[in-house]
Amino acid sequence: MSRTGIYPGTFDPVTNGHIDIIHRATRVVDRLIIGVAINAGKGPLFTLEERVEMLEREIASFPGDAPERVEVRAFEGLLTVFAVSCDASLIVRGLRAVSDFEYEFQMTGMNGRLNPDIETVFLMASDKYQFISSRLVKEICSLGGDVSHFVSAPVKDRMLVKYS
Ligand code: ADP
Repeated sequence: MSRTGIYPGTFDPVTNGHIDIIHRATRVVDRLIIGVAINAGKGPLFTLEERVEMLEREIASFPGDAPERVEVRAFEGLLTVFAVSCDASLIVRGLRAVSDFEYEFQMTGMNGRLNPDIETVFLMASDKYQFISSRLVKEICSLGGDVSHFVSAPVKDRMLVKYS
């Protein structure tokens, strides 16, 4: 039996924290679908196409058979509906500090009610990456700070273009 998981997020842009969670998730599921939320409400810096493209580029350089087991897809609407359409039985979320807990707790409860067959699992990034957030990386970059420790070189270049 093969297990499919979904890792949903905005990925605006993908950070080293997200990458760490993706690596960990590939150890838990056979097939991982990264669901890139259109999320116009959050006023993303990067277009949906750019966010998908950056993720695909990162995944292409993963070791072993991971690139064949990970797929990036855009989605809109209810996560539980998207999960069913992907044949996924698991939602993967990353947990950083206590601050993430409240929101994730509510989301998991709601999603569990919407579809009790889908389990949410939480993974923690390595302590090197736990403090990274797309929001702060954007803020630092917009203020001229160096974001090389938080995102890959291609992502950093694209951010520099956006803020130039
Ligand atoms: P969202 O809009 O759903 O919060 P994000 O792209 O910000 O989208 O995050 C997607 C998922 O990745 C969330 O579960 C978030 O908690 C997790 N995540 C983001 N950054 C990190 C990190 N540095 N360490 C662990 N998990 C993270």
